[in-house]
Amino acid sequence: ATPTALMVGTGRGAQLGILIKGPEVLETTRKVDTVVLDKTGTVTTGKMTLLAVHTADSTDEMETLRLAGALENASEHPIAQAVAAGAAERTGSVLATPEGFANVPGLGVQGVVDGHAVLVGREKLLAEWEIRLPDALLKAKRDAEAAGRTAIAVAWDGEARAVLEVADAVKETSAEAITRLRGLGLTPILLTGDNQAVAESVAAEVGIDEVIAEVMPEDKVDVVKRLQAEGRSVAMVGDGVNDAAALAQADLGLAMGTGTDAAIEAGDLTLVRGDLRAAADAIRLARRTLGTIR
Ligand code: ADP
Ligand code: MG
Repeated sequence: ATPTALMVGTGRGAQLGILIKGPEVLETTRKVDTVVLDKTGTVTTGKMTLLAVHTADSTDEMETLRLAGALENASEHPIAQAVAAGAAERTGSVLATPEGFANVPGLGVQGVVDGHAVLVGREKLLAEWEIRLPDALLKAKRDAEAAGRTAIAVAWDGEARAVLEVADAVKETSAEAITRLRGLGLTPILLTGDNQAVAESVAAEVGIDEVIAEVMPEDKVDVVKRLQAEGRSVAMVGDGVNDAAALAQADLGLAMGTGTDAAIEAGDLTLVRGDLRAAADAIRLARRTLGTIR
């Protein structure tokens, strides 16, 4: 394509809410055959809500909310914000500031609140401290996940105390975006650190058949590499810090404009409005600009 055509393509992209880093990006965009989609914040809104609290027999719900809420208040993860907001609302109190707060990427958070050593996150985070969920909480977790919700475990002072249910909604535009991407001949794959049941429920809602779940943040990049090793040309769409390496590795990285700076810096394209349909627009635009379709 001529430089003029590329400039026109880039300008048209801007009108569609697609920021293109350089003219060579259009060439790559044209070739992709697989699109890997992060779940939280990309296919879903990422705005989660605390829906339910299940406590172990001897555990007080308000204390659970105070401790878990205080810890999560120190994290920027969408799940953490839901727990903190839900806890502040349900307890009607100002959350304490934790000491020794640490974020454990892909697993959860840990820290000390009111003198208690608190863990909030995946069952796997608790397992690292050899803490097991009692049967009643395991059941609550499984039921929540079967319903497509994310179950978060809470432990303090070496004991599992509660399971919190959080959920976020699929973006209204996601299903249509997947249909359009398929229409352009791309195979969609949902990639997430969240559990298999939740991932499958979201995938079914938007029309994705292939799910890769329970992937640690640092392993997302390996999923992209594996697909590339199979000879696929991979587009990756993501919004989080945990997506940055995969966005950089992908043949084409598409960052949600509503996402983190790390993702936007790593991507080749930014979907300004965070609307997944713009991913399909970008591919169509590249093919048109470079003369594959008219
Ligand atoms: P995704 O790939 O869907 O964007 P992440 O890799 O950020 O998800 O997180 C994976 C999983 O780890 C979450 O689904 C959640 O179960 C758990 N997790 C991560 N951070 C937190 C947190 N601050 N509080 C509770 N759970 C968390
Ligand atoms: Mg995300």
